[in-house]
Amino acid sequence: MAQAANSSSTSNDADANKVTMDKITSLAKRRGFVFQSSEIYGGQSGAWDYGPLGIELKNRIQRFWWKEMTQLHDNIVGLDAAILMHPRVWEASGHVANFTDPLVDCKKCKQRFRADLIDEVKLAAKQCPECGGELTDTRKFNLMFKTNIGPVDDGSGLIYLRPETAQGIYVNYKNVVQSNRMKIPFGIAQVGKAFRNEIVTKNFIFRTCEFEQMEMQYFVKPGDDEAAFNYWREQRWAYYDKLGINMEKLRWHQHGEGELAHYAKDAYDIEYEFPMGWKELEGVHNRTDFDLKRHQEYSTKDLQYIDQENNNDRYVPYIVETSAGLTRQMLMVLCDAYAEEKVADKGNDDDWRTVLRFHPELAPITVAVLPLMKKDGLAELAREVRQQLAADFATDYDQAGAIGRRYRRQDEAGTPFCVTIDYDSKEDQTVTVRERDSMEQSRVAIKDLETWIRQKIKAYKRP
Ligand code: ATP
Repeated sequence: MAQAANSSSTSNDADANKVTMDKITSLAKRRGFVFQSSEIYGGQSGAWDYGPLGIELKNRIQRFWWKEMTQLHDNIVGLDAAILMHPRVWEASGHVANFTDPLVDCKKCKQRFRADLIDEVKLAAKQCPECGGELTDTRKFNLMFKTNIGPVDDGSGLIYLRPETAQGIYVNYKNVVQSNRMKIPFGIAQVGKAFRNEIVTKNFIFRTCEFEQMEMQYFVKPGDDEAAFNYWREQRWAYYDKLGINMEKLRWHQHGEGELAHYAKDAYDIEYEFPMGWKELEGVHNRTDFDLKRHQEYSTKDLQYIDQENNNDRYVPYIVETSAGLTRQMLMVLCDAYAEEKVADKGNDDDWRTVLRFHPELAPITVAVLPLMKKDGLAELAREVRQQLAADFATDYDQAGAIGRRYRRQDEAGTPFCVTIDYDSKEDQTVTVRERDSMEQSRVAIKDLETWIRQKIKAYKRP
């Protein structure tokens, strides 16, 4: 990749260095972020596996979100509901009747499309956007995966893989209120898998059939919903700044009449400018009392909140939802962090580096420890230093190859700090710390390393 950039003329550098999905996909595989599911069998579309660096990155994004939503909001608690839920849940929620995408097929090239994503003129003319052939009529296609629970496969054990995590929160809302004495307004946060039988899965992990969501449902008094909606829009926007994302690549999109989901009174998406264009990253939705009222009707259980501080007033709360895709956010973090840059001018491949500029709290490896030489006791000292740092940080150890090459490998993994052990280290117990973004090197005492790194992480600003 760096070589490709290098071989182009200087005037084309900007273009050659553009982030593309191909570059992201190839780096993700090469460095063990994401692998194709069941690759040795030719791959399974709509599913991806997260490798050693990928799982670290995904977990860190999840923790960042979790801290933001629960630890930093004293009225939000967590939940982990089961993926398999009573099938009536999905009748009540409207998913059985309404969770559909409009589907069309091309009679000529046999490709399948989501009608709402085809150009309106082409759709009206029933003309395939790929080959110009004739399209079929639009039919509705339910996105829920069905399976069977129990030994008999006669339909009596029909069960769905949840298409969103939200319903697990709604059906537990009274349990949470009662067990944790929650007072409105309050929120319940959850991270977990969701499944959708997507018609078109493309763009790597952007749209998949199995993915993870990070959702928070905020319960408010009817009438307070619009203020809460505006509050959560602000909060969710600010989150991306904290995550170190380029804010110029984010924008709001308000759902118009035709776009609003069956449960929503108002909805805004935060969109990110991915290499393939502006796409939804997360949604902030005013779901009103739709879900709880439906569950009340279908379960025949009283789901009203009793407001003990206001004469035991009873009402079904309104809900403001913030719903983000974890795996989609990981794709955004990868795209946003990716850069190819010229770091020297010697006219060879080493002039270039590919670097992932992750926020240090997201980086899969925080510190790499590199002995300048394997011999003369440097490797032993380096292993000791690594051991010392491992209690506080995710570390890596690399003694193979020239030091410049090792820095490049860590840049590509997004490692913010490299600690190099040299001959002086043995004498004066100091090391060189090289920072990923500035490539600046500082001499730091081994005993001060943890504090030094922690301070750097705290003071981190996107370059
Ligand atoms: P779309 O219109 O793109 O199908 P949606 O509006 O149905 O998405 P929501 O139901 O609001 O999406 O889901 C909330 C979030 O979950 C989305 O903003 C996205 O980040 C994530 N998400 C939804 N579907 C998928 C998918 N198939 N793969 C990966 N992430 C997804």
